[in-house]
Amino acid sequence: MRESEKSMKSADDSRNGHRNGGKAQALLEKSIPPQTSLNDSLEGEVREFLTDESQLHTFDDLTKVNPVTPTTVLKCLQARYSAQVFYTQAGCTLVALNPFQPFPGLYSLDTMKQYHAAPQPQELKPHVFIVAEEAYRNIRDQLEPLNQSLVVSGESGAGKTWTSRCLMKYYATVAASSSALKSQSTVERIERRVLDSNPIMEAFGNACTLRNNNSSRFGKFIQLQLNSGQLLVGASVQTYLLEKTRVSCQPASERNFHIFYQMMRGATDEQRREWKMPLNQSFDWLPNSDKQIEEDVFEETVEAMLHMGIKTETQRHILRILAGILHLGNVRFSSPGEEHQLCQLPEDSEESMQTAAKLLSVPAQEFLTCLRVRTLKAGKQSLLKPCSQSECRVRRDCLAKTIYSQLFEWLVIFINNSICADKSTWSSFIGVLDVYGFECFHVNKLEQLCINYANEKLQQHFVAHYLKAQQEEYVSEGLQWSFVKYQDNQSCLDLLEGSPVSVFSLLNEESRLNRASDPNMLRVRLEKELSHNPNISWDKFSRVPHFTVAHYAGRVSYQIEGMVEKNKDPVPAELIGLLQKSDNPLLCQIFSGLESENPTTRGLAKVTVVSKFKNSLESLMSILLNTTPHYTRCIKPNPDCKPLTFKQEEVILQLEACGIVQTIHISAAGFPIRIPFKSFMQRYGLILKHLKRGKSSDDLHVDNNNSPQQEVEQLLSAVLNQRSCDERCLLVHCGRTKVFLTQAMLDVLEDQRRNIL
Ligand code: ADP
Ligand code: MG
Repeated sequence: MRESEKSMKSADDSRNGHRNGGKAQALLEKSIPPQTSLNDSLEGEVREFLTDESQLHTFDDLTKVNPVTPTTVLKCLQARYSAQVFYTQAGCTLVALNPFQPFPGLYSLDTMKQYHAAPQPQELKPHVFIVAEEAYRNIRDQLEPLNQSLVVSGESGAGKTWTSRCLMKYYATVAASSSALKSQSTVERIERRVLDSNPIMEAFGNACTLRNNNSSRFGKFIQLQLNSGQLLVGASVQTYLLEKTRVSCQPASERNFHIFYQMMRGATDEQRREWKMPLNQSFDWLPNSDKQIEEDVFEETVEAMLHMGIKTETQRHILRILAGILHLGNVRFSSPGEEHQLCQLPEDSEESMQTAAKLLSVPAQEFLTCLRVRTLKAGKQSLLKPCSQSECRVRRDCLAKTIYSQLFEWLVIFINNSICADKSTWSSFIGVLDVYGFECFHVNKLEQLCINYANEKLQQHFVAHYLKAQQEEYVSEGLQWSFVKYQDNQSCLDLLEGSPVSVFSLLNEESRLNRASDPNMLRVRLEKELSHNPNISWDKFSRVPHFTVAHYAGRVSYQIEGMVEKNKDPVPAELIGLLQKSDNPLLCQIFSGLESENPTTRGLAKVTVVSKFKNSLESLMSILLNTTPHYTRCIKPNPDCKPLTFKQEEVILQLEACGIVQTIHISAAGFPIRIPFKSFMQRYGLILKHLKRGKSSDDLHVDNNNSPQQEVEQLLSAVLNQRSCDERCLLVHCGRTKVFLTQAMLDVLEDQRRNIL
């Protein structure tokens, strides 16, 4: 078995346990009487409340389903999916079901134009373009906060990246100046470049995994910059936590980053010679090359890099570095006879090592020494110590991961320099956030801890923004409100990142102590310091040191072994020194100014993986907090990415994980539209005047000394005079300063207004 296969076997096993079938079943059965089969009872329940089941697919907004239970919501989404309707509104959130099959008309230029030109896009079929258009119009109408963020969430393969691409294309089209459609003006070039950032970032940052053939292995926040005329003038990208381990270690049945395969297939004869990459060359770090996945796109990637301004010469340096990494992966070490002896290279590895050194443009002998010998510093003296076989492998892998991740970072900076507009030229932005969804495998490591922490932060933002704010406003406006229980995840965040002690602070402390890591040490400390928090627990009988966190989306057990080392993420100084001497100007440039991260350095807390991640997430959250957010939840209808296949068990868990039912409850029972009294009378006052004209003055007495609230009450009474008090309560409420309306009430008012005009 290959080295990488062996080490990742457990990770692969873990994926098989990804879905918790028992939990899905339990959720499905929540409101179902026992002793009935799942389908019977689903049907029974739905028939009881939604009389005409054949009409289920027509519910564009889940708030109109009655009652809102996981089962009814599920049934409605399923009916819509069968009818090939993939978008459904869920109050303030858009639910997007992945069809796993192209529907070109759904995203065509004509469709974009239709949504953009509609007087009320919300009246059209739910679509991600409504979300896009709403954000765009908020800026046009100068609504506060002016800047907008479109948060796209969902699990791997649910369609986040697809949705983000659609949103970017939408703005590149509707926010383009008309002249740009005809000529190669600056604006056209900038739109092209903004869109071209996608294939480049996907080539370098996406890979084929068991759950998605084009899985993004990094998080991304892209800011689309608009000028005062609302035209797209630039963009900037921020990335999060690239899964760099994939370069040297690919889980079984998964692959390395796309770019390597693209090179392997798309290279010219000359490049093959330069990279020592004949067609039949096999690389340890290029598993599953035979899988036919859209990869004849090397030319497209090269073309996109050119558009971005990456010159052919620089591209040549990039590709030589990547080819060098592949050859480095073929270098193996044989065990030395004695501990103090150097590891030897088998014959074919010697050649791979020479080729890798040549492609990375570093002296071969020094390269080999860096891989096999450790420099220990004792005061002013340096001591050289031969590495063991496994230490050699770790150094080899570390070299590859470091080069790749630095190269990725360089690319992101280059892209930003190429597409970012001067601050003086833009006045607002629309941010699109495409981050990894909640993850729960059999074996969860530091990566999952970071990813799930990011999801906790986003969930907190969502809860704070919609649920809390909505309820608090009802209270402050003096409205009666039966509170829907929402899950506040603050105690989980306190557990993970709080002060003075948290999982992160203890992990950082353990990483700072330069001692051989013993997973039990961290486990004991976590137990001692954090057991008061209800969100953490331990399985006393488990032999593997771990801790379990109760996240808002479910419980996840994290394996402690290897966590401290991964958090330190040390890069030996010798390796960095070597790369700084490279004759490849790009390699030399990206490592210049980079200091090796010596674990004994003070202030390490700033540079551990979790600290870096926490800092970048905090700056993201502060951006989000100052924007008007729009949420799209992508749902993966089946685990196998099969077209038009809907698995109830799969979907119900995702609905639960994102709290969609709670969201609908609040939106359904609530009054999503709020208009201050003055604006309300400005828009609808004419209805009152009109009604007055047709009635006797006794029926509609208007007193000019009325308070704004009384004026509004009067107008509403006039419009709703046929309705009972109970009916009226379901449609509209007057608060202290504003009117709270349902969409239905707004429709009534708008209709009347239109008839008068
Ligand atoms: P995620 O980013 O959430 O992991 P992706 O956006 O990469 O998922 O989507 C996975 C795959 O699903 C895509 O490669 C594409 O084939 C398909 N897909 C997603 N959304 C759509 C859509 N709206 N229409 C058609 N296919 C889609
Ligand atoms: Mg993605």
